[in-house]
Amino acid sequence: MIITVTFNPSLDSIYTLSQFPIEGDHNRVPNPYRTVGGKGINSARALLSLGADVLALTTIGGDNGQVVKSKLDTEQIPVHYFPIKGDTRVSMTVMANGIQTEIVEKGPNVETDIVLNVIEFIKHYSKTEEDLSCVSINGTINHCSNNIYCLLLDKLHEFLSPNTKILFDVSQPLLGEVLKNKNLPYFIKPNLKELSELLNIPVTKKEEVIDILSKTNLLSDIPFTLISMGADGAVARINNQIYNISIPSIKVINPTGSGDSTVAGVCYALERGFSNIDTLKFAMACGMSNALHEEVGRVQSDEVEELTNKVIVEEIDYK
Ligand code: ADP
Repeated sequence: MIITVTFNPSLDSIYTLSQFPIEGDHNRVPNPYRTVGGKGINSARALLSLGADVLALTTIGGDNGQVVKSKLDTEQIPVHYFPIKGDTRVSMTVMANGIQTEIVEKGPNVETDIVLNVIEFIKHYSKTEEDLSCVSINGTINHCSNNIYCLLLDKLHEFLSPNTKILFDVSQPLLGEVLKNKNLPYFIKPNLKELSELLNIPVTKKEEVIDILSKTNLLSDIPFTLISMGADGAVARINNQIYNISIPSIKVINPTGSGDSTVAGVCYALERGFSNIDTLKFAMACGMSNALHEEVGRVQSDEVEELTNKVIVEEIDYK
């Protein structure tokens, strides 16, 4: 069983246009593809399509929250809801000329009590469910303190068995705080932009990422770090071994949720005890499968199997 946690879900509208809207003009556009987003929801959707046992935990609030609930119920994603004050956010993505532009609301605040309720739920669940393989914390949380995920990590470390892996797919400033914490996650997946923001330096090339993963102390205590690089694949470090991951070129339809599907792939592979190299291949294939479709977080097992065989993972000797 895999649990994903989403503190800031969203109602997403995705517009695929032949050209980007003209500033200051009245832009008439075709109807969007509408879906429920938020990293943990997308990951849960991907896990469900892979046939994994997954439970998504998410906050919902206001009228938008009710729409989120009704859409997720229709999709038959197993979800436990945590009602909050405020209205669940909406977001808009425009795909035009191969470029993805997003307008994402900040979303409602989440009180500490809600975080504690989520922790209690996972605690109770972990006692009754023996095979909890992963708890995946995905995306932002609007909380008055950037340390809130450290509280979550510390509490999870108190009661989760060492067999349950804690994954964090979060960006700055939350990621920086998590990395300074005494108790660390097992896995993180910053993309290039998130890595650049974390280190406060521009990072664009694979050689730079390999150099960073071999030297940066800030990341060295995380057992599994995956730096995803879109069409350029990824670089990973698993227990001091660095891997350069190359992927085939594909005809991208919608890359939204590719990172979330990659994280889903990692959870799936961890649960099933894949080797390091097979885990990386499988996770990349999940990200690619997502990008091949309009739907966000929907991956196809047969496609994943085919793509897995085309991913090249090379061990890098950096010492
Ligand atoms: P995020 O969605 O978090 O920004 P990435 O864009 O790095 O993450 O995508 C995660 C993974 O999804 C990549 O490592 C790759 O496997 C796949 N992917 C994403 N975009 C593309 C693309 N344009 N072409 C091929 N694969 C892609």
